[in-house]
Amino acid sequence: MTGAKHLFIPGPTNVPERVRMAMNVPMEDIRAPDFPELTLPLFEDLKKVFRTETGRAFIFPSSGTGAWEAALSNTLSPGDKVIVSSIGVFSMLWAKMSRDLGLEVIEYDEEWGDAFPLERLAEDLAADKDKAIKAVLVCQNETTTGVVSDVAGVRRLLDAHDHPAMLYVDGVSSIGSIDFRMDDWGVDLAVTGSQKGFMLPTGLGIIAVSQKALEASKTAGLKRSYFSFDWHAPLNDQGFFPYTPATVMLRGLREALNMIFEEGLENIFARHTRIAGGVRAAVSAWGLQTCAKRPEIQSDTVTTVMLPEGIDGNAVILNAYNRYNCSFGKGLLRLDGKAFRIGHLGYMDEGLALTGLGLAELAMIDAGVDIVPGSGVGAAVSHYSRAQSELRLAA
Ligand SMILES: *Cc1c(COP(=O)(O)O)cnc(C)c1O
Repeated sequence: MTGAKHLFIPGPTNVPERVRMAMNVPMEDIRAPDFPELTLPLFEDLKKVFRTETGRAFIFPSSGTGAWEAALSNTLSPGDKVIVSSIGVFSMLWAKMSRDLGLEVIEYDEEWGDAFPLERLAEDLAADKDKAIKAVLVCQNETTTGVVSDVAGVRRLLDAHDHPAMLYVDGVSSIGSIDFRMDDWGVDLAVTGSQKGFMLPTGLGIIAVSQKALEASKTAGLKRSYFSFDWHAPLNDQGFFPYTPATVMLRGLREALNMIFEEGLENIFARHTRIAGGVRAAVSAWGLQTCAKRPEIQSDTVTTVMLPEGIDGNAVILNAYNRYNCSFGKGLLRLDGKAFRIGHLGYMDEGLALTGLGLAELAMIDAGVDIVPGSGVGAAVSHYSRAQSELRLAA
């Protein structure tokens, strides 16, 4: 097909030209004396993105799922009680992994479109007199439903109950795109991957670990090897890794971090809010609903659009792909055929978002959705125009 491939899935996301060029490099010596000049600043700069001064970052050649395993296997023991809320495929899979690894999982099976249920956690923490709960796992941004959960709220509850359980956050589709504060929110393990907010290809699992979690890893009984913090930390301190690091990805990470700091985290968060606002304006103008049930839990990185009864969501996705060279995320599991997802995170701006919204309109109209052509795009243009005036006023 002529023209560009348009990618609006919530990961892998679009990789900027600058990052792609930075990865077009010869292979290099992973034990060279100057290799740490690349790697040591990466660890320090990752901490700035996670907003931790007291924790440390690890980089694994894996996807985000590997970093999930690193978080659990390094810090917990067989039979440990952990709370996970299942509010979409990703949080559900983290619960499954917890069971696979031998943990005792208390799974909050919430309706999809809802956020982590703080009321239920408050009850369980109050009832847990002997402090048997060792961990609370929160998916900050559930990529299935486009729902954001209140990580700071979980921390407040743990503190209010004087509860020592550690706080684990899946930030794969949020860290680097929407507000996340490891130290302020008392997060013990924060997990992400390279192919979403970091604007890189898939291939790095990245994790930030608090001092409390590092301490816990000394006595935690689950088996671990490839992802062992103990194995990585002393070598990482010297700028090296226990096995071959993905050097090309590290070069890309350097450039992506440069871009992140040039724009500034606050500006990046504001851009995601602005772009997402236009997408939500479009959804309303189409007369459709987001899967997220309330405005305050709607994600700024991915929007899951619910389709009217009788419309085949997969036809929308296939029309977009086959006719217009454009990918949207499909509705997953319970949402299969009922919804589609628009990813708007990472390297995203008004121009790209309007392209995606225009093609979403086309694909939906082709699939029989009764919407006024241009209605969503028009609403987004109005939103972006208003947002620009506000930016100019503020400047
Ligand atoms: C993408 C994603 C994952 C899985 O990451 P992989 O890199 O595909 O292993 C986990 N959690 C969330 C919230 C995600 O969006």
